[in-house]
Amino acid sequence: MIPVIALIGRPNVGKSTLFNQLTRSRDALVADVAGLTRDRQYGIGKVGDFPYLVVDTGGLSGEGAQMDRAMAEQTERAVAEADHVLFLVDARDGLTPQDQAIADQLRGAGVKARVVVNKTDGLDADSVSAEFYALGLGQVTSIAAAHGRGVQGLMQAVRKDV
Ligand code: GDP
Ligand code: MG
Repeated sequence: MIPVIALIGRPNVGKSTLFNQLTRSRDALVADVAGLTRDRQYGIGKVGDFPYLVVDTGGLSGEGAQMDRAMAEQTERAVAEADHVLFLVDARDGLTPQDQAIADQLRGAGVKARVVVNKTDGLDADSVSAEFYALGLGQVTSIAAAHGRGVQGLMQAVRKDV
């Protein structure tokens, strides 16, 4: 069975940008994969000869408590559906309370999850990534999705994990 990789995180962290980098054939063949619903964007991608299905769980709206609820629901569904979760955070915003809430929910949820620090272009990747270790989810990978930087390396690491 093809592994399912879900992209989660606050609005505007770069999930859809990464989705576009990771997929070539969007929504192709996806109706055949059991247990998936159609209200998110699905795409097929490959790293080397390793195919995967990516889920972009975007489209969150609302503010304050409503947004917090929407993010919790997004995370819950990703955990239920995915073999591997890519939890995106924003190097320019730094660590936010919403990031911390998502991490709390992921920790111990029984899914493989990886913190991905996006928008590291023009920044020192190591120093902007350091604070995200405080999320307590282990290794942190830095990328610049808009430029494709770090994306291959990220997927090689995911491949070893799924
Ligand atoms: P989403 O809401 O999480 O799906 O985020 P989007 O993919 O829509 O991206 C939000 C904004 O961040 C857009 O303006 C993107 O162009 C920008 N963005 C995404 N990735 C990068 C990146 O690697 N570097 C920079 N500088 N901007 C990025
Ligand atoms: Mg989006």
